[in-house]
Order: sequence, then structure tokens, then C-alpha cells
Amino acid sequence: MGQLLNALLRRTVCDMCTERIRRPEGYLLTTRQVVTNPEYWEFMFANSWASVLASENAPEMKYTLAERQASQSTPWLICSSCADRLHSATPQARTDAERWWNEGRRFAPQGSGPVSVEEVRQARPPETVLQSGLPMPNKIFLIGAKFEPGQDDFFLAAEGLVGLHPPLTMEHLHRVFIKVSSTSTDEVSALTQAVDEVRRESPRAWLVDSLCLNRRTGRDLAIVAMWSGEAVGLARERLPKGTPGGG
Ligand SMILES: [Zn+2]
Repeated sequence: MGQLLNALLRRTVCDMCTERIRRPEGYLLTTRQVVTNPEYWEFMFANSWASVLASENAPEMKYTLAERQASQSTPWLICSSCADRLHSATPQARTDAERWWNEGRRFAPQGSGPVSVEEVRQARPPETVLQSGLPMPNKIFLIGAKFEPGQDDFFLAAEGLVGLHPPLTMEHLHRVFIKVSSTSTDEVSALTQAVDEVRRESPRAWLVDSLCLNRRTGRDLAIVAMWSGEAVGLARERLPKGTPGGG
């Protein structure tokens, strides 16, 4: 709302809700503290980015937002309401904010800087996911054969993947960031090559994939779900038909 006015007046605003913050107020957080917090994404998709969810390109736009926000190199100044929303209204974040104001907005707390998009956590795991013993994947790749897949394509492909890999459920895939891409030809071999490439570029990860060949519409696509970092051990154990990443 007041974003343009604030910019014109060079006001300092909350990096979440754009409410004005006056010196020496606010809480200073690192990019990691913000983008790995599901509350951040929940709030943003309910407010500033509500239109994104309704869009046909939602998977791609959400991924672009995840990449952009995770790449922020400077710390985030957050108002007290938003700090409460993130459960991050700590004395440390308050002290850091004061220091930031006092040092000409140049202070950066320990752990500041960009993080990889795999660390973004948009959603808290639903109950069914917790009960399955299989964590949510860190990332999903959706590859269209010479077209950019949309929401409907995602659901079709995801259903196929879930059918092949119990105890994976649709709930696991619903709110994970999706990297959307398309191959240069509509050959099925181009899709399998693209899947191999995802696997090669994900060392130490655990992956499951599925091809979704749609004879009726000709919209052939591939889906890959990837577990990385701490989630790899459990994914490997629970999804024995998966494959390891790397060369
Ligand atoms: Zn705020």
C-alpha cells in the first residue's frame, strides 16, 4: 500500500509488511532466519503475493520468489508484529537492529548472506507427512517436452509419481518449491535426458522421478522430487526405488 510513498520519502520500512519502522525500532534477522521459516511464506502468500497463487504459472512464480528472497545478501529489518509472526522477536534480534541503526545500516549479524534455494521452507509438514516417516522433498523439478508446465500438469505428474513411490503422498508435494523448465524438442528422449541431468547436478541427494506421457493432449512431462541435506538419510530408507544424485 504505502510502498511507493515510503520509497519517495526514503522511509525505512519492514522487509515483510512494508510498515514504517522508526529508529531505533525493529528486529534484525538474517536471510536464513527468514526464508527457512514457513510463517514467512504463509504471510507473504496470504498478503503481498496473494495473486501468485491464483496464477496458472504459480509453480514457476513461487520458485522465482524463493530464489530471489534466498539470494538476499543483506540482513532484514522486521517490525515487531512481523517478528512475532516469525517467532523471532528475540533480545538478540532487537540488539542487532539497534546496532544496525547506529552503524549507518551497515551492520550484518553472524550468519548473514544469501542461502541456497534448497534451504527455503515454505510449508510446515502436514500431519499425514509426519506420520509417513518420509520428510517433504527439498525441491521438485517439472520438465515439459517443449512447453512450460502449469498447475494442471503438475497435479497429473505428481499423481503418477505418488503412485510409483509409496509412502510418498500428494501432501508431500503440495507446497514444495517447483523448478519449471522445458526441453527444446518434444521427444521423450529429451525428457529422460533432462531427468538424468537433474540427477547429475544433485550430488549427495536422493531422487525419485516419473514420466507422464499424455497421448490425448501431447503434453508429455517429467517430474523429479529431490531430497537433500538432512532429509537424504530418511528418503533413502523410505524410498528404496529412488536413485542417488551425482555422476
Ligand atoms: Zn512488518
